[in-house]
Amino acid sequence: MKHLGRPVQDISITKESSLEKIFEQMSKSGGFESRNLANGLDVLTVMIKDNDCTPVAIINTHAHLDHIGAVEELKNEYSIPFYLNENEKMVLDSYEVTCQMFQMPVKSTPTVDRWISNESDLEFEGLTIKVMFTPGHTPGGTTFIIENHVFVGDTLFRGSVGRTDLPGGNWGVLEESLMRMIEEIPSNHIVHSGHGPETSLEKERQENPFLIPLEKQLNSEL
Ligand SMILES: [Zn+2]
Repeated sequence: MKHLGRPVQDISITKESSLEKIFEQMSKSGGFESRNLANGLDVLTVMIKDNDCTPVAIINTHAHLDHIGAVEELKNEYSIPFYLNENEKMVLDSYEVTCQMFQMPVKSTPTVDRWISNESDLEFEGLTIKVMFTPGHTPGGTTFIIENHVFVGDTLFRGSVGRTDLPGGNWGVLEESLMRMIEEIPSNHIVHSGHGPETSLEKERQENPFLIPLEKQLNSEL
């Protein structure tokens, strides 16, 4: 499939590349764990080069330190804007302190160029990105949907869900987001999590111990 763009899990949208090919590489490289991104600007730049991509934006699912480590460098390298949900500001603002807490190299906090304040689609040269607010892991956690690919950040993993014990996390809010995902995202879409392998809502609804009770709850409300 020839198409514009790809988001990486906290990603840059690119153009003139093959989405499928890049997603395949994402899977092989461990799903773009941003742990790689924290020290691994190279992981992205090599992938961008290998696929003849031209990044046009960086759009983050959330602002935890293991998802934004390469943002400022990518911005500078490609002169592209950084998008983030406005409710994620407090997480972003705590970046440098959190780096110190986790004894990681302290980099400067990336500057946001476009705050996402509603769920209007994002458009990039013919590529449409649907926006769904999925808070709970963090206050501004956001899911992005491109065609049949869903980028959920740390909201949902294969067999698990995002932790809610970090500042701004809220279990009840995360549950509501997960229920909304079950209801609104087609169950056969490919789900790319911020860590670990890809999955689908269909699979998680059947096997994920956190989603099974939510599924039951939804069914009892019908
Ligand atoms: Zn996170």
